[in-house]
Amino acid sequence: MLTSDCLGINEEGHLTIGGVDTLYLAEKYGTPLYVMSEDKIREIAKSYLGSIKKNYNGNGVPIYASKAFCCKEICRIIDSEGLDMDSVSAGEIYTAIKAGVDPKKLHFHGNNKTYGELEYAIENGVGDIIADNFEDIIRVNEIGEKLSKVVDITLRIKPGIDVHTHEFIRTGQIDSKFGFALENGEAEKAAQMASQLKNINLNGVHCHIGSQIFDAEPFVFASEVMLGFIKLIKDKFGIEIKNLNLGGGFGIKYLESDPFLKYEVYMESVSKAIHNKCAEYGLNIPKIFIEPGRSVIGEAGITLYTVGNVKEIENVRNYISVDGGMGDNPRYALYQAEYTCVIANRMNDKADYKATIAGKYCESGDLIQENVSIVKPEAGEILAVLSTGAYNYSMASNYNRNVRPACVMIKEGQDRLIIRRETFEDLIKNDI
Ligand SMILES: *Cc1c(COP(=O)(O)O)cnc(C)c1O
Repeated sequence: MLTSDCLGINEEGHLTIGGVDTLYLAEKYGTPLYVMSEDKIREIAKSYLGSIKKNYNGNGVPIYASKAFCCKEICRIIDSEGLDMDSVSAGEIYTAIKAGVDPKKLHFHGNNKTYGELEYAIENGVGDIIADNFEDIIRVNEIGEKLSKVVDITLRIKPGIDVHTHEFIRTGQIDSKFGFALENGEAEKAAQMASQLKNINLNGVHCHIGSQIFDAEPFVFASEVMLGFIKLIKDKFGIEIKNLNLGGGFGIKYLESDPFLKYEVYMESVSKAIHNKCAEYGLNIPKIFIEPGRSVIGEAGITLYTVGNVKEIENVRNYISVDGGMGDNPRYALYQAEYTCVIANRMNDKADYKATIAGKYCESGDLIQENVSIVKPEAGEILAVLSTGAYNYSMASNYNRNVRPACVMIKEGQDRLIIRRETFEDLIKNDI
């Protein structure tokens, strides 16, 4: 039932994370509470770096997609492991810079970066801008000219790959708001435009084919399509693209039954494909970038809640209500994301009670999971949701004027607060 090896069950039958009793954490910090294992985050960061070293002569960098969980301490940890970082707003750039990250290590994404955001990014010297559309190219060149800078850009390409994952998180195909399509010549036009503008250096090409992907195959296919495009740019415009960014989307375990993707295997297959294609096309081996978000952080986190009540509606269903919900984890409400739910203080009891886990927010759709098998809890017991490290805190809101939870980091068996719980004062700080 556990989804990560940073989780365990102690002698008292309590769920542990990073070796620390979750009951102790719930008591000390209150609930709802996000808890993360720093050891796990560092282990995964190292495995990404290691796989590039081993399979690609170290000629590349993993880029952490910070939208998965962006706060100062996470930025510091990722930075200290030597990963670059993706930002998708000026706010994420600001957070990384405030955490001490060298702006050169930031890569700025987004399908509708505002002029102000582009200016902010370029003024602060971010590493490169991933151009998503023609306006991006024109604006970056204009801002570059104004600031007397030549700005590195990477073109975001839709390689037209249909990855079987949830419709809402599928982005590689032509019907997507992200990037330039290959099929209709848009991507080629973008490359031509970028190659002609003086304050732009066309440095890379990028694709991101989806999320929660478990096979290396779609990535192998994507790398081949992208090298075809690199060859086309070389043939037509005489520019040899140096950077190949294959995006993120590596799957994680939300349920124990989910498969396990070995990142080393991924890099091995992709590296082989790139070397073969480069030989075939007469291209230099590009520097490789990958952009894991969810997989760096997702399995390293859990959320602890206190059960408030259990409502048994005969012949309908049982509801277990907890003291959080869509305000700290909107992913079930958004796209029926799957999660494992457990009663943290009775991990060895039989999980044979069928129930729906509901939040405290005023929406019928405020559910964390439907029809799970769980230990039947009493009010006051601690319910844990596993693998909530990614896209939970970063998607949290103050709906119903609930405060956002605190986040605690566990390192070598020691707990420390990395984000404090919001206060009522925080809730009204912008109210006039
Ligand atoms: C969201 C996103 C990622 C990260 O995706 P994960 O599924 O979290 O690994 C990487 N690159 C881009 C461009 C993204 O939009």
